Amino acid sequence: MTYVPAENRYDRMTYRRCGASGLQLPAISLGLWHNFGHDTPHDTKRDICRTAFDHGITHFDLANNYGPPPGSAEHAFGSILAEDFAGYRDELIISSKAGYLMWPGPYGEWGSRKYLVSSCDQSLKRMGLDYVDIFYSHRFDPNTPLEETMGALDYIVRSGRALYAGISSYNSERTRQAVAILNDLGTPCVIHQPSYNMLNRWVERDGLKETLQELGVGSIAFTPLAQGMLTKKYLGGVPDNSRASQGKSLAPAMITEKAIGNIRKLNEIAEGRGQTLAQMAIAWVLRDGGITTALIGASKPSQVVDCAGAVDNLEFTADELALIDQYADE
Ligand code: NDP
Repeated sequence: MTYVPAENRYDRMTYRRCGASGLQLPAISLGLWHNFGHDTPHDTKRDICRTAFDHGITHFDLANNYGPPPGSAEHAFGSILAEDFAGYRDELIISSKAGYLMWPGPYGEWGSRKYLVSSCDQSLKRMGLDYVDIFYSHRFDPNTPLEETMGALDYIVRSGRALYAGISSYNSERTRQAVAILNDLGTPCVIHQPSYNMLNRWVERDGLKETLQELGVGSIAFTPLAQGMLTKKYLGGVPDNSRASQGKSLAPAMITEKAIGNIRKLNEIAEGRGQTLAQMAIAWVLRDGGITTALIGASKPSQVVDCAGAVDNLEFTADELALIDQYADE
């Protein structure tokens, strides 16, 4: 059946300005790292994306290597774009990245101009797009001059392959350098994509949040749910079909008795706020305006619906924050 997006989709979501740019992003974005490869039925992928858009999630985050196998998430998303979103391209922000291993040989990873431009072209082909909205350097490359990597992003934007440039997982110091180079080139860095959640606060220790605010660069926090740990999913052990049970990126060894005890306490705090734990974890990432959008993943549509509900309560009292810190230290 032809997909018709929910008419009230823009009333359901909050949009936040991405740094000092003209771009507004939904407070919650959807990432396709897991659950969009050959291990997931196509209809599930379609349902997840449709549900996201129905809830005002206009931003879909991909990378060359998402799958498995690498590239398959972009292929799948290309099909969904053609099947369901063909008439809605101008309502979508679609991102991709290059940095991690994508193909063999010296040109298939890291930060050379050769790799970034070729990889961007491959991503566009897989998704059937003329351009992506945001293209990222996925990781800092210690062996390539930063001027080359940033020069490649500038070229990708100037040649029409992307509208905006971004960087991912660069620390504060490298971010300052990258932003300065891009500013000189006339292609500002619009967004930074770091990991950030209650259990992983490196962006605070590093000063990255303040740096980005000072530089006017927006931010999108990946793994806001600590890959599912900051939800109710593991309270009763490791369920089948969960990320931890499937030998994916979340090691079952992370789900210790101590961790579960703390998550139970966090769940009680969330209940006291009238939220699910997933909603509170997302609200926490967004709490002080220092992060533009929380980048979630989902294995089923109902998770998207739950997460989207986080925008109904993004405020915390000082007491709630202090209590959270008791049970969610790193
Ligand atoms: P999350 O921390 O949001 O974890 C997502 C997982 O949490 C889901 O797959 C699901 O687990 C579980 N989950 C989600 N919502 C709920 C819910 N409401 N109730 C219960 N469980 C829930 O983020 P991801 O780790 O998936 O990362 C998000 C995105 O960030 C990626 O898709 C990617 O776009 C980006 N990313 C970027 C990186 C980078 O280097 N720039 C690195 C990693 C990610 P389950 O599958 O077990 O059901």
